[in-house]
Amino acid sequence: MWIDTHCHLDAHEFGEQSLALAARAQERGVDMVVIPAVERGNFTAVRALAHRAPNASYALGIHPIYIPHAVEDDLLFMRDAVAQAMADPRFVAIGEIGLDFFIPMLCEPAMREKQVFFLREQLKIARDFGLPVLCHVRKSQDQVLKHVRQVGPAGGIAHAFNGSFQQAQAYIDAGFKLGFGGNLTFTRALQIRRLAAELPISAIVVETDAPDISPSWVHPGVNTPAEVAGIGEALAGLRGEAPEQIARATTQNALDVMPRLRALMAA
Ligand SMILES: [Zn+2]
Repeated sequence: MWIDTHCHLDAHEFGEQSLALAARAQERGVDMVVIPAVERGNFTAVRALAHRAPNASYALGIHPIYIPHAVEDDLLFMRDAVAQAMADPRFVAIGEIGLDFFIPMLCEPAMREKQVFFLREQLKIARDFGLPVLCHVRKSQDQVLKHVRQVGPAGGIAHAFNGSFQQAQAYIDAGFKLGFGGNLTFTRALQIRRLAAELPISAIVVETDAPDISPSWVHPGVNTPAEVAGIGEALAGLRGEAPEQIARATTQNALDVMPRLRALMAA
């Protein structure tokens, strides 16, 4: 059994196929798909989808890429939405939130500041409700970590992790797991493959980030949640371990960092 800890199953690329793709993932042993929101405008969509697919759950948050259009009122809206969602067993985390200091439009000083403001406010929502955070960390490893440490949410996942071993350890010390996906299937991704092979297995969760970050055998096609099984097998290959063992360990790790997901899957 696999858990895809990060899948944008509501993305427009999937059209009407979202439910069929969740079912196909289930056939590949993907018993759970976590669907992060990206903006206030898709909170309803991720919630609805997580209730229609038997093997899905969701998170609420505002993604860095949507920060240019976000307004402060969105944070009040989000706090209300989270307060209500606490009664919903399929709601498991805050996300996708973070900092993106790679996309030029997001790197201007005012926009960097706005990103930091929204990250901190969302970390506070996570902290106040005792929820883990699903973090987008792009050219911002140390900055995201700094705000996580200062605000102190209940752990989380650094998704599509691509930092140093030292940064990995700092996230682990902050109660985080590190998300690995399609990138580790490319032989040129030396650093990510070293991390995936050498970090303690207790720190690792698997993800697709579908429809993005396709594994090598799908690239440049559209990624889907079923691929997390192949990604997990590739991870097992890098570590010289049996896929079943990696599936068990990464599933435990995902449940450890998302206690509401454990409760949902035990129900
Ligand atoms: Zn994402």
